[in-house]
Amino acid sequence: MSIDSTQHILNLSPQELEAWFERTGQPTYRASQVLRWIYQQRATEFSRMTNLSKQLREKLENQFHLLDGKVEICRESIDGTKKLLICFRDNKKVETVLIPAKDRLTVCLSTQAGCPVGCAFCATGQGEFQGHLSAGQIVEQLLHLQLIADEQEKRITNVVFMGMGEPLLNYDNTINALRTINAKWGFNIGARKITISTIGVPEKIRKLASENLQITLALSLHHVEQAKREKLIPLAKKYPLPKIIQAAKYYFEKTGREVTLEYLLLSDINSSEKEAEKLADIAHTLRANVNLIAYNPTAQSEFTAPHQLPIRRFMNTLKERGINVHLRASKGKEIDAACGQLRNSPGP
Ligand code: SAH
Ligand code: SF4
Repeated sequence: MSIDSTQHILNLSPQELEAWFERTGQPTYRASQVLRWIYQQRATEFSRMTNLSKQLREKLENQFHLLDGKVEICRESIDGTKKLLICFRDNKKVETVLIPAKDRLTVCLSTQAGCPVGCAFCATGQGEFQGHLSAGQIVEQLLHLQLIADEQEKRITNVVFMGMGEPLLNYDNTINALRTINAKWGFNIGARKITISTIGVPEKIRKLASENLQITLALSLHHVEQAKREKLIPLAKKYPLPKIIQAAKYYFEKTGREVTLEYLLLSDINSSEKEAEKLADIAHTLRANVNLIAYNPTAQSEFTAPHQLPIRRFMNTLKERGINVHLRASKGKEIDAACGQLRNSPGP
């Protein structure tokens, strides 16, 4: 139970906010004024919205809350990556990450507190699952990170849904958050700068294809053989590889957006020459790009990343077959802010 009965304003669409103003006998253009204060001016309190009357500001205050979460911890890595631990009013805790690079400023957002999928290699999947985040709680992570970026007069340019949780298992809230992030009245970040990463939920990939959004879909493949993939990813039993690949193909055909295949390299498990060849075949069928990720260590895990040489060899096999392949640089490793290292409780 939340401590008060106010609504999280970041959950509302402009239409819903307009309807509220209408109900309270106010002109509907007040909604765009409020949205401008939140998303453009980054006002974190209604009292700062000085073009609204004091009475109206108090009314908003009584009805809504603007920030639902508190930043409990902020850690910075030597490469400039920042990781926040946010605790929301309903006690869900999530981590969210700001990743600076030369020409971009990326945020990595969480969609669930923990993750019910339970992948063997992922710290989030090995921790406690506390539930779905609301759209507002997803958007608020970006707001907190933009407030930090504002201190250096920087604007967030890219958004990846690659934090804690499986976005397609919290579909509606993720899409609503994405629309706020993309909207002109919201954060106004272009759809092509937004990526959703999924472990593979075929019916939801198909649904996503019909949303009329030009976002990038990243599919976390991690193995090319069904039986071995199931050992790493429990949910894979429910969704066999051919079904996932068909859905990804449909996504490409329907949206014209190239899919990215993410492939975690684990030594002795999925990084042989044969597996590289199979991955190249799948990428070829999908006309997909491949992002290789060297495994980042997590607590209590038996996995290790391959050495540089086998990684190069794996990459070359893909390149020789004409696949567009990159090795993703993992940032923020020493503060556990890299892929697969996010969690909602301190490690053992
Ligand atoms: N649930 C979604 C999005 C969050 S995970 C998904 O799995 O795609 C984001 C990315 O980090 C995925 O590609 C995931 O497989 C990868 N990842 C998980 N654990 C990792 C680890 N220990 N090292 C490196 N990458 C990892
Ligand atoms: Fe969940 Fe993705 Fe981690 Fe798997 S890799 S447990 S789907 S967050």
